[in-house]
Amino acid sequence: MLEKKNFYINGSWVAPKIPNDIEVINPATEKSCAVISLASKEDVNDAVLSAKEAFKTWGFSTKEDRVALLETFYTLYKKRWNDITDAIIQEMGAPKDFASKLQTGTGASHTKSFIKYLKEFEFERPLGDHAKDQRILYEPKGVCALITPWNWPMNQVCLKVIPALAAGCTMVLKPSELAPLSAIILAELIDEAKFPNGVFNLVNGDGATTGDALTSHPDVNMISFTGSTRAGALISQNAAKDFKRVSLELGGKGANIVFKDADPEAIERGALRCFRNSGQSCNAPTRMLVEKSLYSEAIERLKKFANEFKVDDPNKEGDHIGPVISENQFNKIQSLIKKGIDEGANLVAGGPGKPEGLKDGYYVKPTVFADVNNSMEIARTEIFGPVLSVIPFETEEEAIKIANDTDYGLTNYIQTQDNKKVQRVARKLRSGMVDVNGAGIAVDAPFGGYKHSGIGREAGKEGLTEFLEVKSVGGWN
Ligand code: NAD
Repeated sequence: MLEKKNFYINGSWVAPKIPNDIEVINPATEKSCAVISLASKEDVNDAVLSAKEAFKTWGFSTKEDRVALLETFYTLYKKRWNDITDAIIQEMGAPKDFASKLQTGTGASHTKSFIKYLKEFEFERPLGDHAKDQRILYEPKGVCALITPWNWPMNQVCLKVIPALAAGCTMVLKPSELAPLSAIILAELIDEAKFPNGVFNLVNGDGATTGDALTSHPDVNMISFTGSTRAGALISQNAAKDFKRVSLELGGKGANIVFKDADPEAIERGALRCFRNSGQSCNAPTRMLVEKSLYSEAIERLKKFANEFKVDDPNKEGDHIGPVISENQFNKIQSLIKKGIDEGANLVAGGPGKPEGLKDGYYVKPTVFADVNNSMEIARTEIFGPVLSVIPFETEEEAIKIANDTDYGLTNYIQTQDNKKVQRVARKLRSGMVDVNGAGIAVDAPFGGYKHSGIGREAGKEGLTEFLEVKSVGGWN
Protein backbone atom coordinates (compact mmCIF):
# COMPACT_ATOMS: atom_id res chain seq x y z
CA MET A 1 0.00 0.00 0.00
CA LEU A 2 1.15 3.53 -0.79
CA GLU A 3 2.62 5.27 2.29
CA LYS A 4 2.39 9.07 2.11
CA LYS A 5 2.57 10.04 5.77
CA ASN A 6 5.05 12.93 5.47
CA PHE A 7 4.31 16.61 4.95
CA TYR A 8 6.19 18.95 2.62
CA ILE A 9 7.53 21.75 4.84
CA ASN A 10 10.32 24.21 4.05
CA GLY A 11 11.47 22.26 0.99
CA SER A 12 11.66 18.80 2.65
CA TRP A 13 9.37 15.85 3.29
CA VAL A 14 9.08 15.67 7.08
CA ALA A 15 7.45 13.14 9.41
CA PRO A 16 4.42 14.25 11.45
CA LYS A 17 5.28 15.41 14.97
CA ILE A 18 2.45 13.32 16.41
CA PRO A 19 1.63 10.31 14.17
CA ASN A 20 -2.09 10.15 13.38
CA ASP A 21 -2.60 7.88 10.39
CA ILE A 22 -5.72 7.40 8.29
CA GLU A 23 -6.35 5.26 5.25
CA VAL A 24 -7.38 6.70 1.91
CA ILE A 25 -10.29 4.62 0.63
CA ASN A 26 -10.70 3.87 -3.07
CA PRO A 27 -14.46 4.45 -3.56
CA ALA A 28 -14.68 1.90 -6.39
CA THR A 29 -13.42 -0.98 -4.21
CA GLU A 30 -14.19 0.32 -0.68
CA LYS A 31 -10.62 -0.78 0.13
CA SER A 32 -7.69 1.24 1.35
CA CYS A 33 -5.31 2.44 -1.39
CA ALA A 34 -2.91 4.60 0.68
CA VAL A 35 -2.13 5.78 4.17
CA ILE A 36 -1.56 9.42 5.11
CA SER A 37 -1.16 11.19 8.43
CA LEU A 38 -3.28 14.04 9.80
CA ALA A 39 -1.28 17.11 10.77
CA SER A 40 -1.42 18.37 14.35
CA LYS A 41 -1.49 22.02 15.43
CA GLU A 42 2.33 21.78 15.84
CA ASP A 43 2.83 20.55 12.25
CA VAL A 44 0.58 23.34 10.97
CA ASN A 45 2.57 25.88 12.98
CA ASP A 46 5.84 24.67 11.38
CA ALA A 47 4.34 24.94 7.91
CA VAL A 48 2.96 28.46 8.49
CA LEU A 49 6.24 29.72 9.99
CA SER A 50 8.14 28.30 7.02
CA ALA A 51 5.80 30.17 4.65
CA LYS A 52 6.15 33.34 6.74
CA GLU A 53 9.95 33.21 6.54
CA ALA A 54 9.93 32.49 2.79
CA PHE A 55 7.62 35.44 2.13
CA LYS A 56 10.41 37.83 3.14
CA THR A 57 12.16 37.11 -0.15
CA TRP A 58 9.51 35.47 -2.40
CA GLY A 59 7.17 38.42 -1.74
CA PHE A 60 9.73 40.63 -3.54
CA SER A 61 10.74 38.17 -6.29
CA THR A 62 10.58 39.35 -9.88
CA LYS A 63 7.77 38.50 -12.23
CA GLU A 64 10.33 36.97 -14.62
CA ASP A 65 11.60 34.57 -11.95
CA ARG A 66 8.07 33.48 -11.12
CA VAL A 67 7.18 32.98 -14.79
CA ALA A 68 10.29 30.83 -15.32
CA LEU A 69 9.54 28.60 -12.31
CA LEU A 70 5.87 28.22 -13.27
CA GLU A 71 6.83 27.30 -16.82
CA THR A 72 9.14 24.59 -15.46
CA PHE A 73 6.29 23.37 -13.24
CA TYR A 74 3.93 23.25 -16.25
CA THR A 75 6.42 21.16 -18.27
CA LEU A 76 6.84 18.74 -15.35
CA TYR A 77 3.05 18.57 -14.85
CA LYS A 78 2.58 17.39 -18.44
CA LYS A 79 5.26 14.71 -17.93
CA ARG A 80 3.46 13.32 -14.85
CA TRP A 81 0.00 13.48 -16.54
CA ASN A 82 -0.63 9.72 -16.27
CA ASP A 83 0.50 9.57 -12.62
CA ILE A 84 -1.84 12.43 -11.73
CA THR A 85 -4.71 10.73 -13.58
CA ASP A 86 -4.06 7.39 -11.82
CA ALA A 87 -4.02 9.13 -8.44
CA ILE A 88 -7.37 10.81 -9.18
CA ILE A 89 -8.94 7.50 -10.31
CA GLN A 90 -7.82 5.87 -7.05
CA GLU A 91 -8.64 8.65 -4.63
CA MET A 92 -12.06 9.75 -5.89
CA GLY A 93 -13.21 7.23 -8.52
CA ALA A 94 -13.34 9.47 -11.61
CA PRO A 95 -13.36 7.20 -14.68
CA LYS A 96 -10.13 6.99 -16.67
CA ASP A 97 -11.03 9.13 -19.71
CA PHE A 98 -12.83 11.77 -17.65
CA ALA A 99 -10.01 11.82 -15.08
CA SER A 100 -7.39 12.34 -17.78
CA LYS A 101 -9.16 14.81 -20.08
CA LEU A 102 -11.09 16.85 -17.54
CA GLN A 103 -9.73 16.33 -14.05
CA THR A 104 -6.02 16.34 -14.95
CA GLY A 105 -6.73 18.47 -18.03
CA THR A 106 -8.26 21.42 -16.18
CA GLY A 107 -5.27 21.56 -13.80
CA ALA A 108 -3.04 21.97 -16.85
CA SER A 109 -5.22 24.50 -18.63
CA HIS A 110 -5.55 26.68 -15.53
CA THR A 111 -1.78 26.61 -15.06
CA LYS A 112 -1.20 27.63 -18.68
CA SER A 113 -3.78 30.39 -18.45
CA PHE A 114 -2.36 31.82 -15.18
CA ILE A 115 1.14 31.96 -16.72
CA LYS A 116 -0.31 34.01 -19.60
CA TYR A 117 -2.09 36.43 -17.23
CA LEU A 118 1.03 36.73 -15.06
CA LYS A 119 3.10 37.70 -18.10
CA GLU A 120 0.55 40.38 -19.06
CA PHE A 121 -0.13 41.71 -15.56
CA GLU A 122 1.12 45.20 -14.66
CA PHE A 123 2.11 45.11 -10.98
CA GLU A 124 2.74 48.86 -10.97
CA ARG A 125 0.92 51.54 -12.93
CA PRO A 126 0.24 55.27 -12.78
CA LEU A 127 -3.27 56.22 -11.62
CA GLY A 128 -3.76 58.18 -14.85
CA ASP A 129 -2.60 61.15 -16.93
CA HIS A 130 -4.43 63.53 -14.58
CA ALA A 131 -2.31 62.46 -11.55
CA LYS A 132 1.16 61.52 -12.71
CA ASP A 133 2.66 61.31 -9.20
CA GLN A 134 0.05 58.76 -8.09
CA ARG A 135 1.25 55.16 -8.37
CA ILE A 136 -0.86 52.03 -7.90
CA LEU A 137 1.06 48.95 -6.72
CA TYR A 138 -0.30 45.39 -6.64
CA GLU A 139 1.41 43.34 -3.94
CA PRO A 140 1.07 39.73 -2.74
CA LYS A 141 -1.29 39.24 0.19
CA GLY A 142 1.28 37.22 2.13
CA VAL A 143 0.94 33.78 3.74
CA CYS A 144 -2.07 31.92 2.34
CA ALA A 145 -3.96 28.94 3.74
CA LEU A 146 -5.33 26.99 0.78
CA ILE A 147 -8.00 24.40 1.58
CA THR A 148 -9.51 22.22 -1.12
CA PRO A 149 -12.22 19.54 -1.57
CA TRP A 150 -12.14 16.09 -3.17
CA ASN A 151 -14.51 16.44 -6.11
CA TRP A 152 -12.16 18.13 -8.60
CA PRO A 153 -8.98 17.58 -6.61
CA MET A 154 -6.29 18.80 -9.03
CA ASN A 155 -8.43 21.49 -10.62
CA GLN A 156 -9.19 23.08 -7.23
CA VAL A 157 -5.58 22.86 -6.07
CA CYS A 158 -4.26 24.49 -9.28
CA LEU A 159 -6.90 27.24 -9.07
CA LYS A 160 -5.31 28.28 -5.77
CA VAL A 161 -1.64 27.25 -5.73
CA ILE A 162 -0.74 28.58 -9.21
CA PRO A 163 -2.18 32.13 -8.86
CA ALA A 164 -0.82 32.34 -5.29
CA LEU A 165 2.68 31.50 -6.60
CA ALA A 166 2.20 33.88 -9.54
CA ALA A 167 1.21 36.73 -7.21
CA GLY A 168 4.28 36.23 -4.99
CA CYS A 169 2.41 34.75 -2.03
CA THR A 170 3.70 31.86 0.08
CA MET A 171 1.34 29.13 1.19
CA VAL A 172 0.25 26.09 3.11
CA LEU A 173 -1.99 23.75 1.13
CA LYS A 174 -4.33 21.36 2.92
CA PRO A 175 -6.04 19.15 0.36
CA SER A 176 -9.06 17.02 1.22
CA GLU A 177 -8.18 14.13 3.51
CA LEU A 178 -10.42 11.96 1.29
CA ALA A 179 -8.45 12.65 -1.90
CA PRO A 180 -4.93 13.83 -1.05
CA LEU A 181 -2.88 11.75 -3.53
CA SER A 182 -2.92 14.03 -6.59
CA ALA A 183 -2.02 17.03 -4.38
CA ILE A 184 1.00 15.10 -3.07
CA ILE A 185 2.17 14.69 -6.69
CA LEU A 186 1.75 18.45 -7.15
CA ALA A 187 4.04 18.99 -4.14
CA GLU A 188 6.61 16.69 -5.76
CA LEU A 189 6.44 18.79 -8.94
CA ILE A 190 6.94 22.03 -6.99
CA ASP A 191 9.97 20.44 -5.36
CA GLU A 192 11.34 19.26 -8.70
CA ALA A 193 10.77 22.69 -10.28
CA LYS A 194 12.95 24.12 -7.46
CA PHE A 195 10.72 26.79 -6.03
CA PRO A 196 12.61 28.30 -3.04
CA ASN A 197 12.18 26.46 0.27
CA GLY A 198 9.10 27.43 2.26
CA VAL A 199 7.24 29.11 -0.61
CA PHE A 200 4.92 26.11 -0.93
CA ASN A 201 4.11 23.78 1.98
CA LEU A 202 1.70 20.87 2.17
CA VAL A 203 0.07 19.33 5.21
CA ASN A 204 -2.59 16.65 5.14
CA GLY A 205 -5.40 16.61 7.62
CA ASP A 206 -9.07 16.90 8.44
CA GLY A 207 -11.15 20.04 8.84
CA ALA A 208 -11.77 19.97 12.59
CA THR A 209 -8.10 19.84 13.67
CA THR A 210 -5.75 20.66 10.78
CA GLY A 211 -8.09 22.99 8.87
CA ASP A 212 -9.08 24.82 12.04
CA ALA A 213 -5.44 25.22 13.15
CA LEU A 214 -4.55 26.64 9.76
CA THR A 215 -7.43 29.09 9.43
CA SER A 216 -7.04 30.39 12.98
CA HIS A 217 -3.24 30.78 12.82
CA PRO A 218 -2.34 34.46 13.45
CA ASP A 219 0.42 34.45 10.81
CA VAL A 220 -1.93 33.48 7.98
CA ASN A 221 -2.92 36.56 5.98
CA MET A 222 -5.37 35.03 3.51
CA ILE A 223 -7.59 31.96 3.33
CA SER A 224 -8.73 30.57 0.01
CA PHE A 225 -11.25 27.80 0.59
CA THR A 226 -13.33 25.57 -1.65
CA GLY A 227 -15.82 23.23 -0.06
CA SER A 228 -19.11 23.13 1.74
CA THR A 229 -21.10 26.18 2.82
CA ARG A 230 -21.03 24.75 6.37
CA ALA A 231 -17.20 24.80 6.53
CA GLY A 232 -17.06 28.15 4.69
CA ALA A 233 -19.07 29.77 7.50
CA LEU A 234 -16.81 28.30 10.22
CA ILE A 235 -13.69 29.44 8.39
CA SER A 236 -15.08 32.98 8.01
CA GLN A 237 -15.57 33.13 11.78
CA ASN A 238 -11.92 32.15 12.33
CA ALA A 239 -10.81 34.74 9.77
CA ALA A 240 -12.88 37.54 11.29
CA LYS A 241 -10.82 37.60 14.51
CA ASP A 242 -7.77 39.10 12.80
CA PHE A 243 -9.24 40.30 9.49
CA LYS A 244 -7.71 37.65 7.27
CA ARG A 245 -8.65 38.06 3.62
CA VAL A 246 -11.12 35.33 2.67
CA SER A 247 -12.03 33.83 -0.67
CA LEU A 248 -14.75 31.15 -0.65
CA GLU A 249 -15.98 28.84 -3.39
CA LEU A 250 -18.93 26.97 -1.91
CA GLY A 251 -21.93 24.93 -2.97
CA GLY A 252 -24.57 25.35 -5.66
CA LYS A 253 -28.05 24.26 -6.71
CA GLY A 254 -28.04 25.42 -10.32
CA ALA A 255 -31.25 25.85 -12.31
CA ASN A 256 -31.31 24.88 -15.98
CA ILE A 257 -34.19 26.77 -17.62
CA VAL A 258 -35.36 24.88 -20.70
CA PHE A 259 -37.75 26.95 -22.81
CA LYS A 260 -39.96 25.29 -25.41
CA ASP A 261 -37.77 26.61 -28.25
CA ALA A 262 -34.61 24.98 -26.84
CA ASP A 263 -32.31 23.20 -29.29
CA PRO A 264 -32.97 19.45 -29.81
CA GLU A 265 -30.13 18.26 -27.52
CA ALA A 266 -30.87 20.57 -24.58
CA ILE A 267 -32.73 18.05 -22.41
CA GLU A 268 -30.17 15.23 -22.64
CA ARG A 269 -27.27 17.70 -22.41
CA GLY A 270 -28.75 19.08 -19.18
CA ALA A 271 -29.05 15.59 -17.65
CA LEU A 272 -25.49 14.74 -18.71
CA ARG A 273 -24.17 17.90 -17.04
CA CYS A 274 -26.05 16.95 -13.86
CA PHE A 275 -24.80 13.31 -13.81
CA ARG A 276 -21.20 14.03 -14.90
CA ASN A 277 -18.53 13.40 -12.25
CA SER A 278 -21.26 11.34 -10.51
CA GLY A 279 -23.10 14.60 -9.78
CA GLN A 280 -20.23 15.85 -7.64
CA SER A 281 -19.75 19.32 -9.14
CA CYS A 282 -20.70 22.52 -7.38
CA ASN A 283 -21.85 24.00 -10.71
CA ALA A 284 -24.03 21.02 -11.75
CA PRO A 285 -27.47 21.95 -13.14
CA THR A 286 -29.42 19.87 -10.62
CA ARG A 287 -32.81 21.58 -11.02
CA MET A 288 -34.18 21.35 -14.55
CA LEU A 289 -36.97 23.89 -15.09
CA VAL A 290 -39.00 22.90 -18.15
CA GLU A 291 -41.66 24.99 -19.94
CA LYS A 292 -45.10 23.32 -19.61
CA SER A 293 -45.64 22.61 -23.33
CA LEU A 294 -42.37 20.63 -23.50
CA TYR A 295 -42.74 19.02 -20.08
CA SER A 296 -44.21 15.52 -20.79
CA GLU A 297 -41.89 14.99 -23.73
CA ALA A 298 -38.91 16.09 -21.56
CA ILE A 299 -39.82 13.62 -18.81
CA GLU A 300 -40.03 10.73 -21.30
CA ARG A 301 -36.65 11.67 -22.79
CA LEU A 302 -35.03 12.04 -19.37
CA LYS A 303 -36.39 8.66 -18.26
CA LYS A 304 -34.85 6.97 -21.31
CA PHE A 305 -31.57 8.89 -20.96
CA ALA A 306 -31.12 8.08 -17.25
CA ASN A 307 -32.09 4.41 -17.68
CA GLU A 308 -29.49 4.02 -20.42
CA PHE A 309 -26.81 6.07 -18.65
CA LYS A 310 -23.78 3.93 -17.85
CA VAL A 311 -22.29 3.58 -14.37
CA ASP A 312 -19.18 1.41 -14.17
CA ASP A 313 -15.67 0.78 -12.90
CA PRO A 314 -13.48 3.92 -13.16
CA ASN A 315 -10.56 1.85 -14.42
CA LYS A 316 -12.45 1.12 -17.65
CA GLU A 317 -12.25 3.44 -20.63
CA GLY A 318 -15.47 5.08 -21.80
CA ASP A 319 -17.89 7.85 -20.98
CA HIS A 320 -19.61 6.21 -17.99
CA ILE A 321 -19.65 7.67 -14.47
CA GLY A 322 -17.95 6.04 -11.48
CA PRO A 323 -18.85 5.80 -7.79
CA VAL A 324 -19.39 8.72 -5.41
CA ILE A 325 -16.57 9.58 -3.03
CA SER A 326 -17.40 7.81 0.24
CA GLU A 327 -19.78 5.70 2.26
CA ASN A 328 -20.97 8.84 4.07
CA GLN A 329 -21.75 10.57 0.81
CA PHE A 330 -23.46 7.41 -0.55
CA ASN A 331 -25.69 7.26 2.53
CA LYS A 332 -26.50 10.97 2.37
CA ILE A 333 -27.56 10.64 -1.28
CA GLN A 334 -29.68 7.55 -0.51
CA SER A 335 -31.50 9.33 2.29
CA LEU A 336 -32.18 12.36 0.06
CA ILE A 337 -33.57 10.08 -2.67
CA LYS A 338 -35.89 8.52 -0.06
CA LYS A 339 -36.84 12.00 1.13
CA GLY A 340 -37.80 12.95 -2.44
CA ILE A 341 -40.09 9.90 -2.66
CA ASP A 342 -41.60 10.64 0.76
CA GLU A 343 -42.21 14.29 -0.16
CA GLY A 344 -44.27 13.16 -3.15
CA ALA A 345 -41.93 13.83 -6.08
CA ASN A 346 -42.46 11.45 -8.99
CA LEU A 347 -39.48 9.05 -9.35
CA VAL A 348 -39.15 8.36 -13.09
CA ALA A 349 -35.67 6.78 -13.23
CA GLY A 350 -33.06 5.40 -10.83
CA GLY A 351 -33.93 5.53 -7.14
CA PRO A 352 -32.59 3.89 -4.00
CA GLY A 353 -29.88 1.21 -4.05
CA LYS A 354 -26.94 0.45 -6.30
CA PRO A 355 -27.06 -0.06 -10.08
CA GLU A 356 -27.35 -3.71 -11.13
CA GLY A 357 -24.10 -5.69 -11.11
CA LEU A 358 -22.16 -3.22 -8.93
CA LYS A 359 -21.99 -4.75 -5.47
CA ASP A 360 -18.72 -3.24 -4.16
CA GLY A 361 -18.10 0.49 -4.49
CA TYR A 362 -20.22 3.54 -3.68
CA TYR A 363 -22.21 3.52 -6.92
CA VAL A 364 -25.46 5.47 -7.24
CA LYS A 365 -28.18 5.05 -9.89
CA PRO A 366 -28.64 8.08 -12.14
CA THR A 367 -31.93 9.33 -10.77
CA VAL A 368 -34.65 11.63 -12.13
CA PHE A 369 -37.51 13.09 -10.13
CA ALA A 370 -40.39 14.76 -12.02
CA ASP A 371 -43.11 17.05 -10.62
CA VAL A 372 -40.72 18.50 -8.07
CA ASN A 373 -41.85 21.55 -6.16
CA ASN A 374 -39.07 24.06 -5.47
CA SER A 375 -39.80 23.94 -1.74
CA MET A 376 -39.03 20.19 -1.49
CA GLU A 377 -35.75 19.23 0.13
CA ILE A 378 -34.41 17.65 -3.12
CA ALA A 379 -34.83 21.06 -4.77
CA ARG A 380 -33.15 23.00 -1.96
CA THR A 381 -30.29 20.82 -0.68
CA GLU A 382 -27.11 20.25 -2.63
CA ILE A 383 -27.31 16.45 -3.05
CA PHE A 384 -23.85 16.03 -4.67
CA GLY A 385 -24.88 12.86 -6.46
CA PRO A 386 -26.39 12.02 -9.90
CA VAL A 387 -29.90 13.16 -8.97
CA LEU A 388 -31.94 15.51 -11.16
CA SER A 389 -35.08 17.33 -10.00
CA VAL A 390 -37.43 18.46 -12.77
CA ILE A 391 -39.81 21.37 -12.15
CA PRO A 392 -42.43 22.65 -14.63
CA PHE A 393 -43.00 26.38 -15.32
CA GLU A 394 -45.38 28.44 -17.45
CA THR A 395 -43.86 31.89 -17.93
CA GLU A 396 -40.40 33.44 -18.20
CA GLU A 397 -41.01 35.42 -14.97
CA GLU A 398 -41.98 32.25 -13.11
CA ALA A 399 -38.84 30.44 -14.34
CA ILE A 400 -36.61 33.31 -13.14
CA LYS A 401 -38.41 33.38 -9.79
CA ILE A 402 -37.91 29.63 -9.23
CA ALA A 403 -34.27 29.75 -10.40
CA ASN A 404 -33.49 32.57 -7.94
CA ASP A 405 -35.47 31.01 -5.08
CA THR A 406 -32.45 29.28 -3.52
CA ASP A 407 -29.76 30.12 -0.98
CA TYR A 408 -27.15 29.44 -3.64
CA GLY A 409 -26.07 31.44 -6.70
CA LEU A 410 -23.22 29.71 -8.51
CA THR A 411 -24.18 28.70 -12.08
CA ASN A 412 -27.54 28.87 -13.82
CA TYR A 413 -28.27 27.60 -17.33
CA ILE A 414 -30.56 28.83 -20.12
CA GLN A 415 -31.75 26.82 -23.14
CA THR A 416 -33.52 28.81 -25.87
CA GLN A 417 -32.78 29.89 -29.41
CA ASP A 418 -34.17 33.37 -28.80
CA ASN A 419 -31.14 35.61 -28.19
CA LYS A 420 -33.17 38.49 -26.79
CA LYS A 421 -34.67 36.13 -24.23
CA VAL A 422 -31.18 34.83 -23.36
CA GLN A 423 -29.94 38.34 -22.56
CA ARG A 424 -33.08 39.31 -20.65
CA VAL A 425 -33.01 36.18 -18.48
CA ALA A 426 -29.21 36.10 -18.00
CA ARG A 427 -29.34 39.61 -16.54
CA LYS A 428 -32.00 38.62 -14.02
CA LEU A 429 -30.41 35.43 -12.70
CA ARG A 430 -28.69 35.93 -9.34
CA SER A 431 -25.60 33.79 -9.93
CA GLY A 432 -21.92 34.30 -10.65
CA MET A 433 -22.17 32.36 -13.92
CA VAL A 434 -24.80 31.74 -16.61
CA ASP A 435 -24.17 29.03 -19.19
CA VAL A 436 -26.28 29.32 -22.35
CA ASN A 437 -27.12 26.51 -24.78
CA GLY A 438 -24.18 24.35 -23.66
CA ALA A 439 -21.57 26.99 -24.55
CA GLY A 440 -19.67 26.40 -21.29
CA ILE A 441 -17.77 28.93 -19.17
CA ALA A 442 -14.25 29.60 -20.51
CA VAL A 443 -11.28 28.34 -18.50
CA ASP A 444 -10.15 31.90 -17.77
CA ALA A 445 -13.60 33.44 -17.13
CA PRO A 446 -14.16 34.47 -13.48
CA PHE A 447 -15.50 31.46 -11.54
CA GLY A 448 -17.48 32.03 -8.36
CA GLY A 449 -20.84 32.65 -6.82
CA TYR A 450 -23.42 35.02 -5.37
CA LYS A 451 -25.13 34.51 -2.01
CA HIS A 452 -24.22 31.30 -0.12
CA SER A 453 -22.13 30.09 -3.09
CA GLY A 454 -19.20 32.16 -1.92
CA ILE A 455 -17.08 35.29 -1.99
CA GLY A 456 -14.48 36.17 -4.63
CA ARG A 457 -13.57 34.69 -7.99
CA GLU A 458 -11.12 32.06 -9.23
CA ALA A 459 -9.48 31.52 -12.65
CA GLY A 460 -8.00 33.94 -15.16
CA LYS A 461 -7.11 37.52 -14.30
CA GLU A 462 -9.64 37.80 -11.43
CA GLY A 463 -8.22 34.59 -9.98
CA LEU A 464 -4.76 36.17 -9.92
CA THR A 465 -5.87 39.49 -8.43
CA GLU A 466 -7.61 37.64 -5.55
CA PHE A 467 -4.09 37.08 -4.19
CA LEU A 468 -3.03 40.74 -4.48
CA GLU A 469 -3.44 43.75 -2.20
CA VAL A 470 -3.67 47.19 -3.79
CA LYS A 471 -1.44 50.01 -2.54
CA SER A 472 -1.79 53.67 -3.57
CA VAL A 473 1.35 55.82 -3.35
CA GLY A 474 1.10 59.61 -3.73
CA GLY A 475 4.25 61.59 -4.62
CA TRP A 476 5.89 58.89 -6.80
CA ASN A 477 8.16 60.75 -9.21
P1 NAD B 1 -15.99 20.10 3.07
O1 NAD B 1 -16.32 21.50 3.38
O2 NAD B 1 -16.41 19.07 4.03
O3 NAD B 1 -14.42 19.93 2.91
C1 NAD B 1 -13.66 20.74 2.02
C2 NAD B 1 -12.29 20.96 2.61
O4 NAD B 1 -12.43 21.75 3.79
C3 NAD B 1 -11.58 19.68 3.04
O5 NAD B 1 -10.20 19.85 2.79
C4 NAD B 1 -11.87 19.62 4.53
O6 NAD B 1 -10.91 18.90 5.26
C5 NAD B 1 -11.84 21.10 4.89
N1 NAD B 1 -12.63 21.47 6.06
C6 NAD B 1 -13.80 20.94 6.49
N2 NAD B 1 -14.21 21.57 7.61
C7 NAD B 1 -13.28 22.54 7.87
C8 NAD B 1 -13.14 23.53 8.90
N3 NAD B 1 -14.05 23.65 9.87
N4 NAD B 1 -12.07 24.34 8.87
C9 NAD B 1 -11.16 24.24 7.88
N5 NAD B 1 -11.22 23.32 6.91
C10 NAD B 1 -12.29 22.48 6.89
O7 NAD B 1 -16.55 19.86 1.63
P2 NAD B 1 -16.40 18.56 0.76
O8 NAD B 1 -17.48 17.64 1.17
O9 NAD B 1 -15.03 18.06 0.81
O10 NAD B 1 -16.66 19.15 -0.73
C11 NAD B 1 -17.91 19.27 -1.27
C12 NAD B 1 -18.41 20.71 -1.20
O11 NAD B 1 -17.52 21.59 -1.89
C13 NAD B 1 -19.73 20.86 -1.90
O12 NAD B 1 -20.60 21.64 -1.12
C14 NAD B 1 -19.38 21.60 -3.19
O13 NAD B 1 -20.39 22.30 -3.79
C15 NAD B 1 -18.25 22.45 -2.77
N6 NAD B 1 -17.43 22.83 -3.93
C16 NAD B 1 -17.50 24.11 -4.41
C17 NAD B 1 -16.76 24.49 -5.52
C18 NAD B 1 -16.81 25.90 -6.05
O14 NAD B 1 -15.91 26.30 -6.75
N7 NAD B 1 -17.82 26.70 -5.73
C19 NAD B 1 -15.94 23.58 -6.15
C20 NAD B 1 -15.89 22.28 -5.65
C21 NAD B 1 -16.63 21.93 -4.52
